Formats: sequence, structure tokens, C-alpha cells
Amino acid sequence: MKGTAADPAWHGGVTSERAECVLCPNPSPMTLDGTNTWLLAEPGSDEVVVVDPGPLDEGHLQAVLRRVEESGRRVVLTLLTHGHDDHAESADRFHELTGAPVRAFGRGHDDLWAGETIRVGGLEILATPTPGHTSDSFSFVLPADNTLLTGDTILGRGTTVVAWPDGSLESYLASLDRIEGLTRAGTVTRLLPGHGPFVADAAATVTFYLQHRAQRLDQVRDAVARGAQTAYAVVEQVYADVPRSVWPAAELSVQAQLEYLREHG
Ligand SMILES: [Zn+2]
Repeated sequence: MKGTAADPAWHGGVTSERAECVLCPNPSPMTLDGTNTWLLAEPGSDEVVVVDPGPLDEGHLQAVLRRVEESGRRVVLTLLTHGHDDHAESADRFHELTGAPVRAFGRGHDDLWAGETIRVGGLEILATPTPGHTSDSFSFVLPADNTLLTGDTILGRGTTVVAWPDGSLESYLASLDRIEGLTRAGTVTRLLPGHGPFVADAAATVTFYLQHRAQRLDQVRDAVARGAQTAYAVVEQVYADVPRSVWPAAELSVQAQLEYLREHG
């Protein structure tokens, strides 16, 4: 799934004046090259916002802190794109290490709110709800870089999972529409995903995601019409082209699609 000539491996690194990725060494079929931990800072400022410290991997957290210290900066805020362990498991430990608050949606304290503008050391971040992959998914606009941090809503390679029953296809499609609106307005031209390489053409990728979702929905509808009785039976027909290791995740996406078809016909 990674490392082929057509799909060069991603190692993280600096992607713009304001963003740098420290890649967590947790590659898998679900996490692609690993989890992207993003370090954001306004040029000239010593205040860093960390997005998704990742799984509880002390070596990774130390690598993130080393990178921040090497640049003469310090972590003043941690944001989470969503609560899945590969993004958020280390949040409490990272808070211990940095003293910086951790903010996300649905943690029950200091929650992000839709449309909130976060300002740190001259850096402006716009918190945008993008539920669907999970109900708590948020994306973050960096207006100065025309960039959107997408978490697992849009990945750097391939497509993502609607993690039913917490995730929902209806809200996922609405979130893709919202992101498409940001690309159409020119607010967002590039994406910094939670896994895989940064995306240089945000508009084309959102269009691909929307088309892919519509195509999968057609395929699921056809599989049901041909007599598939269970989500697994649908996966066997519709996801024959994806590695079996991701079939459990595909089954959740199929459940989400079946729910959507029940509600929308
Ligand atoms: Zn993830």
C-alpha cells in the first residue's frame, strides 16, 4: 500500500512556512505511513501548536519535543482532529510533558466550537467541524497558508473509513461539501492530512472523494439488489479490490452506507 514508485513513501518534514510534520512510526494498512503529528507556528514566533500527538509512543513524543526545541520554540497548545487512539491516545501524556492545554471536540472541557478562531503567537487557526469519519472530527484552516488540516476526513493517499456507528455517511458527505466550498472560495488550496503525504491540489482531491463516495454507494446499492444480505456479503462484492487487512474497516463503511440507503433510498 506504500512505497511503490507511483506512491512514494512519505516521511514528514516541512511543508510550508507555518507547518511541519513529524511522522509517527506506526505504519499499518489503516494508518498508511504512520500518524502525522503537525507542528504549526507563525514565522518569527516561538509558540507552537501541535495537532495530533498520536498514539502513546514515548519515543515519538520525545521526537516531537526535540523538533520543537531545535527550532527554539515551545508547545503552547495541542489540538486533536478526533479521538481515535492513533491521533489522541498520547494527549494526556503530552499535556504532562508540555503543560500545554489539549483542545478537541467532545472531551467535555474546553471544547472547540464550530467556527472558532484560535490565535497563537500571530498564527490564526479556524476550527471547522467535519464529522463523518467520527462524530467528533474537526478540521483546521490555516488561512495564511490556504491550508486545511483534515485529520482522517481526507487522507494523503487512498480514501478513508466512515467509522460506523459513531461515524455517519450523511454527515461525512456534508463535511466533504463544506470542504469543497472552502476550495471553491479559494480559502483552501492544500491539505495536510492525518496520514499520508500533504495534498497539493485540495480541490481535485475533494472532487475525487465525492466521486468515490457516490460510486461506492452505487456499488453497495447494486450488491444489495443482487441479494447481498449482510454487510460482510457487500464487502466481498464491493471491496474485492482492497487488501483483506482493511476489510473490517470496509465493513464499517458498508454499515454506514446501508444506513444511508435505508434513510435516503
Ligand atoms: Zn487515523
